[in-house]
Amino acid sequence: MMAPNASSKTAIRHGSCLCGKVRYQVTGEPLTFFVCHCGNCKKATGSAFMTNTFFLEKNVRVFEGKDQLSCFRDTNTASGVALRRYFCSKCGSNVLLSSEQKDNNLTIVTFGTIDDKVAWFPRKERFPEHMLPFVKGINLNPKGLARPKL
Ligand SMILES: [Zn+2]
Ligand SMILES: [Zn+2]
Repeated sequence: MMAPNASSKTAIRHGSCLCGKVRYQVTGEPLTFFVCHCGNCKKATGSAFMTNTFFLEKNVRVFEGKDQLSCFRDTNTASGVALRRYFCSKCGSNVLLSSEQKDNNLTIVTFGTIDDKVAWFPRKERFPEHMLPFVKGINLNPKGLARPKL
């Protein structure tokens, strides 16, 4: 159990998909934040890279439109571990991801769907060898996010 004064300081942020059917909240700061340049993240977003913030599963709660979320089981990943990509079935926004790696208790929240203003910087780029030539100068901050004690 958290001391009452500790829990009262924990920030809650909200996020949603493009059409607004899916709404979620995250508690606390992300454990880490990666920019991913892998081919599957490019496909999934239709963009040059994906922005992934990592939270403990218990700190992510979809409170609206859970039934709108569809899951694509991505088995052909660069890491070799299957990934569940959850997206809104109405508007197609990628909202959440989770790894099928054993004992993984993390949920990835796509940074672009977070509605609240947050000062998080990505800590690291994954698969930089697949970075598109015009993508340069992403502002990383390796120490930007304090990793909470688990
Ligand atoms: Zn939607
Ligand atoms: Zn990726």
